[in-house]
Amino acid sequence: MIRENLNAVEQAVEASCQKAGRERGEVTLIAVSKTRPLSDLREAYEAGTRDFGENKVQELVDKIPELPSDIRWHMIGHLQRNKVKYIVGKVSMIHSVDSLHLAEEISKEAVRKNTEVDILIEVNVAEEESKYGVTLSEAPGLVEQIAQLPSIHIKGLMTIAPFTENPEENRIFFRKLKQLSVDIERKNIDNVSMVVLSMGMTGDYTVAIEEGATCVRVGTGIFGERHYDTQGE
Ligand SMILES: *Cc1c(COP(=O)(O)O)cnc(C)c1O
Repeated sequence: MIRENLNAVEQAVEASCQKAGRERGEVTLIAVSKTRPLSDLREAYEAGTRDFGENKVQELVDKIPELPSDIRWHMIGHLQRNKVKYIVGKVSMIHSVDSLHLAEEISKEAVRKNTEVDILIEVNVAEEESKYGVTLSEAPGLVEQIAQLPSIHIKGLMTIAPFTENPEENRIFFRKLKQLSVDIERKNIDNVSMVVLSMGMTGDYTVAIEEGATCVRVGTGIFGERHYDTQGE
């Protein structure tokens, strides 16, 4: 089933790229494997997936050593400062940085481990109470502060759009995040690039691609509905 789902998502990604006049190579499909057993991840790997997204440090730490080393792991969930040390050096990107404090901890740990960490700034574009992330207006200032830290590199922006039945309702939020990335890029800040735009999930990734997403994070659409009762969230 996972292989079939992946094929269907892949076709939808290609169709959206075509519709938007973009190359398929501009968009990375991240398979969000949180709560999934290793057997599911292996199946996706066998079908060609190399980018996996997880939202819990413990799950990342458990899964990484069990799977092939050519996988790029993406930390997409809220990250606590005291857990930074467990993932620096192991993940290829942290999508969910939303404070200077957190960035400082990542930077310190990267220096300590003599490594470099790529991050995205999480923006709560719709300003939902329940979500992490800085506001659109706070983002540029945070970017400028984090840019000065050693061994941490801002590669772009990330957002989690509101849950909605109608993905068209999220188009405005994706467009705003894209505009923000253009505005920040124009500032030409040292140590900052805006090449990554991580937006779009199962319900709205096609719209996100039309609005410029370079990473879409798809869980349910690949692995099916999640059941939190066994592993919790
Ligand atoms: C769970 C999760 C996703 C994937 O959600 P689906 O609706 O299952 O595709 C994407 N991004 C983040 C940050 C998530 O936590």
